Amino acid sequence: MPELPEVEVTRRAIEKTLVGRRIARVKTTAPSYFFLTPPARLRRALTERSVVALTRHGKYLVALLDDGARLLLHLGMTGQLFTAGARSVRLLSAERRSTLDPAHQTAFRPDAHTHLELEFADGPPGLYFRDIRKFGKVRLLAPGQSDPRLDKLGVDALVATGEALHAVARRRRVPIKSLLLEQSVIAGIGNIYADEALFHARVRPTRPSRRVGREECDELVRAARRVLERAIVKGGSSIDDFVRPDGSDGAYQTERKVYAREGEPCPRCKTPIRRIVIGQRSAHFCPSCQR
Ligand SMILES: [Zn+2]
Repeated sequence: MPELPEVEVTRRAIEKTLVGRRIARVKTTAPSYFFLTPPARLRRALTERSVVALTRHGKYLVALLDDGARLLLHLGMTGQLFTAGARSVRLLSAERRSTLDPAHQTAFRPDAHTHLELEFADGPPGLYFRDIRKFGKVRLLAPGQSDPRLDKLGVDALVATGEALHAVARRRRVPIKSLLLEQSVIAGIGNIYADEALFHARVRPTRPSRRVGREECDELVRAARRVLERAIVKGGSSIDDFVRPDGSDGAYQTERKVYAREGEPCPRCKTPIRRIVIGQRSAHFCPSCQR
């Protein structure tokens, strides 16, 4: 699932394709739960518009249009936003990955999963939003219109403070791992980076939030920002479907210290990493150096 780094990597790359170019043609698939705004309305509203800025809050991308409307984009579980010409086997279905010979596995053509295609007045490259499972979302917000998904987000993880985390944590009994995943507290920390931040801050994911002290909250927020920024530099983590907008893979997955490393030695003390389930999500930690 794309997390903050993957969304930010996407934003930085897509920004160059999107901002300042007039949209000449919009193609969509049929109405589905992918479209919070009906696709016919979306096609009408986006044609002849241009994007003046592309921002990110948590895992949401917000494109500001030249008429003051905003286009909300969320990658969901399997969303892929990329420029025409991107090449990756991750852009093919598992079936096609296995049946096509390697020479033909890289060419992407818009398919049934390509729900939104933008073509620009100045020619290629266009922009595709593809999503196999359709948990991604597109919504057009009229000028001044708010969206409950954006309104309920807490401060973005890249600018969060330990003070703000502690103010919430001290009143809550839930495991600190669960609190870190609550997007209304800090926006943008997902499962992978929560486990990594807890490891770096030496805090056990099961610890009740109210027993995490102010200094530990400082350390957690710092650690989260460090791992997120490092992951952005590395192009995010390509685990299932995530591709960078140019079709290349992210490389952060090789740097993870605890996530998906159950049974492997802790990089600090060599104790085997343990995997448990907290709130239906897997959590990975060192039982010796995380307290
Ligand atoms: Zn350890």
